[in-house]
Amino acid sequence: MTTIDYPGELAAVIFCQGCPWRCCYCHNGHLLPRMSSEPGLIEWDEIIAFLERRQGLLDAVVFSGGEPTLQSALKPAIQQVKAMGFKIGLHSAGVYPERLAELLPLLDWVGLDIKALAEDYAALTGVSGSGEKAWESLRLLVASGVAYEVRTTVHTELLSPQNLKKLQHQLQQTGVAHHQLQQCDTRHALDQRLSA
Ligand code: SF4
Repeated sequence: MTTIDYPGELAAVIFCQGCPWRCCYCHNGHLLPRMSSEPGLIEWDEIIAFLERRQGLLDAVVFSGGEPTLQSALKPAIQQVKAMGFKIGLHSAGVYPERLAELLPLLDWVGLDIKALAEDYAALTGVSGSGEKAWESLRLLVASGVAYEVRTTVHTELLSPQNLKKLQHQLQQTGVAHHQLQQCDTRHALDQRLSA
């Protein structure tokens, strides 16, 4: 149960495995492989049984990750949970804009990471073209009318105050009304040099 992963709602969070990016500050490194045998894996049927016991107690279910849109079963999973009466939240880095577009009609709230200006993404994610994907997802989200929060993780060595200003300006130009900064927590960062 969480009170902070879906603003204003009591929610359960499902952490989905897999992400094709490798952000140096990612603190969910154990979730990045698409398939893993990490402790904590829960069968889908068990999750549904758990949620049945929480109907009327929890308001929402948030699909988080990793990058949840990597999972091909995400859409039917969301449909199943929505049919149980829960609001649906999604945490995403906008990795797959075309998949996000397909999901948006089912979503009630999205927390979208926008890490930097598009041209600065590859230095953070290790993947060329990642910035274009994230910003395309942002444009789709803003146009959709679905409630959202755009989040940017700030580490002063990775995002200078000048670039942060430019980013804020670009977000305004794109029509973003809700932008939240979050301090980088380097304790479990993928690139341990950040902790130092
Ligand atoms: S997009 Fe998110 S989950 Fe994927 S590597 Fe970056 S911080 Fe981690």
